[in-house]
Amino acid sequence: MPGVDFDCLRAEITMEQVLDLLTFEPTARSGQQCYGRCPLHESTSKRRRSFSVNLALGRYYCHRCHRHGNPLELWAAATKLPLHQAAIDLCERLGRQVPWIHHW
Ligand SMILES: [Zn+2]
Repeated sequence: MPGVDFDCLRAEITMEQVLDLLTFEPTARSGQQCYGRCPLHESTSKRRRSFSVNLALGRYYCHRCHRHGNPLELWAAATKLPLHQAAIDLCERLGRQVPWIHHW
């Protein structure tokens, strides 16, 4: 299988798009920073703000399960797919071309 141009995806896929697919609903928002229930771990506590996202930077961090990263890594963590598979899956769900790297 050819490689996927991750740099291209990182530049083009936004955190909002991935959060949309995960049907994430922020419980609080302050500027570019959103907080809510973490889509990566089952939260039993009433504190539903362990997950924080910076939309401007396109980074997420969970204070409970300590996962963090960019939108692509969030999708990989949420779907439990390896990064390569997650990238392809994400492109399909967003209805976009996979930016394959073709070696000549
Ligand atoms: Zn978490």
